Amino acid sequence: MWAGIDDTDSVQGGCTTYVATEVITQMEYDLIGLPRLVRLNPNIPWKTRGNGAMALHVGIGGGKRHMIGEIDGEPVYCYSHRKREANFSEMAALLEKIIRRHMKRDAQPAYVISTRKPPASLYWKAVRTLVEKEEVMAELDGTAEYRLYNGGRGIIGASAAISWRPGDRTYELITYGNEKWIERESVIAMDRACPGTFNNYDYRNEYIALLPKSTSPVFYGIRGDSVEELYRAKEMLVTSKEERWLIFETNQATDDHLQRKKISQVKPYESVIVKGYVKREPYVIKGGHLIFSISDGHEIDCTAYEPTKEFRDVVKELRRGDEVVVYGGVRKQPFTINIEKMKVLNLVEVYQKRENPVCPVCKKHMKSVGRGKGYKCPICGNKAGEEDAKYDRVKRYIRPGFYEVPVIARRHLAKPLKRMAVMPESI
Ligand SMILES: [Zn+2]
Repeated sequence: MWAGIDDTDSVQGGCTTYVATEVITQMEYDLIGLPRLVRLNPNIPWKTRGNGAMALHVGIGGGKRHMIGEIDGEPVYCYSHRKREANFSEMAALLEKIIRRHMKRDAQPAYVISTRKPPASLYWKAVRTLVEKEEVMAELDGTAEYRLYNGGRGIIGASAAISWRPGDRTYELITYGNEKWIERESVIAMDRACPGTFNNYDYRNEYIALLPKSTSPVFYGIRGDSVEELYRAKEMLVTSKEERWLIFETNQATDDHLQRKKISQVKPYESVIVKGYVKREPYVIKGGHLIFSISDGHEIDCTAYEPTKEFRDVVKELRRGDEVVVYGGVRKQPFTINIEKMKVLNLVEVYQKRENPVCPVCKKHMKSVGRGKGYKCPICGNKAGEEDAKYDRVKRYIRPGFYEVPVIARRHLAKPLKRMAVMPESI
C-alpha cells in the first residue's frame, strides 16, 4: 500500500518529513523501499516552504532488509519486497491521529492511501504546472482512500508523491533534534571527502547549506547520489547527537521541474529552459536585483535576484547579441524568469569607440551628427561614417559555458552542474 502525506507544515514551521518519521515509528507495518521525499512545483504562489510531499510504501516486508535510519534509538529498516498488504483502516486511523496532532494552524494537510499508484502524469503536472485539487480527486476516486483537513490542498502533493516513478533520483539523509550544533570544519572536510554529495557548503558565502533555512524539527540534511556515501558523510560530521535520522529517496536536484519552451509559450508559475539572444542589457534595480531580457523573436525578462549573490557578477557581463540558454522559474508579477542556471552559447565581439574620425583636410576631430548618423567636420563640413571612427575591442570577462547560482541560493529541484557532468565556469 502507498501512503502519501502533504501540507502538514506551514510558513511558521513544521516539516512533513518529520510527520513521516512519526508514521514510520508508530505503524505496525514495514517500509518497502525507502521513504520518498518528493518536491513539487517551486513556483506555486501558496506553497509552504520547500513544497515537499511524502510517499511511503508500507506492508509486511520480505526479502532483503537494510537499516536506513534510527528513531529515538530504534533502528529503522526497509525491505526489498512486500509479502503482505497493510490494512486500510489501520493505516487510515494512524494517519488521521498523526496529522491531527502535528498539523499547523494554517496548514491544509491531506493523506491518501492506495494499493495502486496514480498515473505518472499526475507527478509531472504537479512538479511542472498548477494542479487543481478537484482534478486530483477525480483521478483518485474509486482507486484510493483519502482525507482532507482544513481544505486539504495537500491532496495534490500527497497524490503526486505516490505517482512519482523515480527516473533520475537522489537521496537525502535527514536528521532531527532539539539540540543543534554543528562544527563548520567538519562540514567542509565532509564536503571535500564525499564527491557524490552536493549543496553542503557555500565556501564564498561561508554558509552551511545542510541546515534548514527556517525553524524546523530538521537538524540537518545531507544530499547525495549514493546511499552508502551518505552514511559515510554522516560519520564525518561533528555535531550534537541527533534524536532521529532517516534516508529518503527524492527527486531533488533532478531538474524535473523544467520544460524546454519557446519564449512565446512561457507561462507564469512554470519553470523553463529557454534559448535566446540578449536584447536589453543587464541593469540593476532597487534591492540589488539584476535584470536583462532575451529574445527568440519574442522577448522575456530574466532576473538574477539579490540572494543569488556572485552569480550576478556573471550576468552583468552579458551584452546585447550574446546567445544564452536560461533555466529558471517564471514569476507572474513581474513576469520574469528567476534564473537558476545559465548556459552561455556565444559571445558577441564588443567594440568601444576610442576616438572620433579626423578630418583629412583640417586634421581636426570631427563631431558626431547624432547617434548612429555619422560625423561632420566643424570647420569644413566634411562628412564621415560611423565606421570611420577608431574602436577598441572590449575584453569579455565571461566565456561560453555553464554558470549556476551559488549553493546558498540553490533550489531543491535545481540540478547542480556537479550532477550534469559539465564543468562550471566562473569569473
Ligand atoms: Zn575639415
